[in-house]
Amino acid sequence: MSASNEEIKKLAQAYLRNRGFYSGDIDGLWGDLSNKAFARYADHLAQRGLEVGGEEQIVEDAASGAISGVIVIDPGHGGSGKIGGSSGNNATSASGVLEKTMTLDLARRVETQLQDLANAMPGSRIDVHLTRSGDVNLSLSDRAQLAESTKADIFLSIHFNGFNGRARGTETLIISTANGNVNEQEDRELAQRVQSAMLAAIRRFDPDARDRGVKNGQKLGVLNDISLGNTRIPNKTRACLVEVEFIDSPPVDELLNTGPNAQAARDAIARAIAEALVDDLRVRR
Ligand SMILES: [Zn+2]
Repeated sequence: MSASNEEIKKLAQAYLRNRGFYSGDIDGLWGDLSNKAFARYADHLAQRGLEVGGEEQIVEDAASGAISGVIVIDPGHGGSGKIGGSSGNNATSASGVLEKTMTLDLARRVETQLQDLANAMPGSRIDVHLTRSGDVNLSLSDRAQLAESTKADIFLSIHFNGFNGRARGTETLIISTANGNVNEQEDRELAQRVQSAMLAAIRRFDPDARDRGVKNGQKLGVLNDISLGNTRIPNKTRACLVEVEFIDSPPVDELLNTGPNAQAARDAIARAIAEALVDDLRVRR
């Protein structure tokens, strides 16, 4: 029993260290450093309205792979008029489905998949907030500010692209340091996880899926660090924006809207995104 106890305490130390709360050795000796790390972790959760049940709970969580976190999902666009930099709609699919409808549908599916993943990991708590749940528009800063007010770990904005009816591909966008991002590296790692997962899911349904990669060249108001609270709070929200595919391309419209596997493809993409977000929570906290 004592040997396995030590193993479990090592897991707890690793759990705390991976999340930046512990800098000591992973030795299974639960001393002062471990206690302090645990206290900081408990404070960190408390600030987010979450709690751990004591040392036993974190040891249990560590052993079970439980995770916790707050995720804001932002379905792009909505409503009709332009508000604070956010247009009511941008792209329209070849069959006439609006981007704003597809972003909300996918956001809801990601939320469902996140709750399924949390339910499958005993002790896990994932608090999911959507910036909108109906056909309404919000300004870009209002969307980002939900991440600040909920002290979110992750902010994910969902969009679909449109161009000339032929372009294809999946891309994930972040803001560069030069454009004011105070945590570009963390955002890039999140974005790469999400990008790889989405692409793999789309490829299962469509071999013509194309990787347009993670891009950082643009100023995206919705990822603005001031609105996300990143310049004020110590635990910075990691943020990226996905452009899932070009919906004005007829093969993409069939893949996601009109084809026989459209529902399954959307669920697979949502599952892949949810898994990437959970991976990011696991590594960071
Ligand atoms: Zn858009």
